[in-house]
Amino acid sequence: MSEKEDSSLAARLDVLQSQSAALSPGPEQRKALLASAERLLDRFLPSLSTRAVYRPSDPETLAAEEALEPTESPADADEMFGLIERHVAQDGLHEGSPRFFGFIPGGGLYASAVADYVAAAINRYAGVGFAAPGAARLERRMVRWLSREVGYPADTSNGDLTSGGSIANLSAVVAARDAHNLRGNDIERTVVYVSEVTHHSCLKALAIAGLREAVVRQVACDDGWRMVPANLVELVRADREAGLQPWLIAANAGATDTGGVDPLAELASIARRENLWLHVDAAYGGAFALCEEGRRLLEGMQLADSITLDPHKGLFLPFGSGAVLIRDARHLYAANHVRGAYMQDLKDAADPADASPCDLSPELTRPFRALRLWLPLRLFGVAAFRAALEEKLLLARYAHSRLAELESIEMGPPPDLSIFVFRFVPPGADPEIFNAAFAEALRADGRIFLSSTNLAGRFMMRFAVLNYHSHRADVDAAVSAISEVASGLFTHRNQIDGCPEQE
Ligand SMILES: *Cc1c(COP(=O)(O)O)cnc(C)c1O
Repeated sequence: MSEKEDSSLAARLDVLQSQSAALSPGPEQRKALLASAERLLDRFLPSLSTRAVYRPSDPETLAAEEALEPTESPADADEMFGLIERHVAQDGLHEGSPRFFGFIPGGGLYASAVADYVAAAINRYAGVGFAAPGAARLERRMVRWLSREVGYPADTSNGDLTSGGSIANLSAVVAARDAHNLRGNDIERTVVYVSEVTHHSCLKALAIAGLREAVVRQVACDDGWRMVPANLVELVRADREAGLQPWLIAANAGATDTGGVDPLAELASIARRENLWLHVDAAYGGAFALCEEGRRLLEGMQLADSITLDPHKGLFLPFGSGAVLIRDARHLYAANHVRGAYMQDLKDAADPADASPCDLSPELTRPFRALRLWLPLRLFGVAAFRAALEEKLLLARYAHSRLAELESIEMGPPPDLSIFVFRFVPPGADPEIFNAAFAEALRADGRIFLSSTNLAGRFMMRFAVLNYHSHRADVDAAVSAISEVASGLFTHRNQIDGCPEQE
């Protein structure tokens, strides 16, 4: 390079450095940015307990959404958080509201948000033990803590902190597939047993894991939507007789739809006898193992080969936290341990129980997820979580018994955990039409949010309690809202298509 070229390159580098200097803020700039973020949160978080739980998108706001497009020039932080407040924080469902009783309620512990902030700011490379030994050890510690809470043997089990339950189910299916050494030629003869209310992510996992052609048997449930072991045994027997290869049972520890817990101990003994892999999808219900009553209800879960948990449900974390636990860690390791030449500097752990997160997960680079779980547990103490979970179990029973007193209501069975179903059966009305209208009217009312489902061809309302700031007064408010909206519809039946006027 000539001297002239050299100095013009240096001059250009100086210009580029100063043009990108904003990417490295100093302490004052960091504080100002955080203060701006806090101003948004000071407006948004307190409003969760008073705002409508559901709000449709506002057409005027939608029309102004171009303002979100990245621009070449810098912008003001307050103005930017204002855009997020307007365009992102308002519409749709507020799962963090204490009066959100739909789907599976979310939580969103603020301490986890701060942990995420710190995790991202220190930006440790948590997937690889060599790169961030302390972070990888904390990931391992939190997996071990979860294992202990569900009753898994801490020495042979391991797992992975995932982004959610769907990925955890996928990871379990892949481990189960490899543990049974399933090959392409076997798939059409391989049989999976699921319940009538299995979460769709289990079926999606099969498809993604290359097992779309496997035979899927739906095992009929009892009236609490729990798999009936005798029906499973009979299906397995018939399948073996037909020359098929029974492989996997996907059981529920808290079905999303109905909250039912399958008879896990019985399923575990069938699995052992028949050499089947028992996966327990405890994404919704698993965290109840933290309280004594819940642990009793989930008895047998610890006998499963794999378990899915969702700390962003039952441990109240912000979205983005699931977990898969595998009783025999070697299967998870064997399914995920792959190396590239550029990784030769990494030292492999001798024992899969001490493996790097990247050897137990499809991910390599990943967020440092353990911190969002660890910080609130340490700050508030585990006892606070145990109490909150027992409170949710009892709140659901309380809601069930209070709703049972309403006029023309037909209750599903009392909740196994914290979800139950019900519907209205006003005399002379078609319950399908009436309950669909009720769901709509309740959403429009906005005081609470319930979602609905279809069980054996029936339109049913679901009531799910899991938000950490839902308490007795919120359930009372829900019972009042349900009662008032239903009464309104009883008296104005003529306004519902297909419902005759009351006599
Ligand atoms: C929520 C849920 C899932 C899916 O978990 P995501 O975190 O939403 O991916 C799977 N199974 C059950 C039983 C669930 O409740």
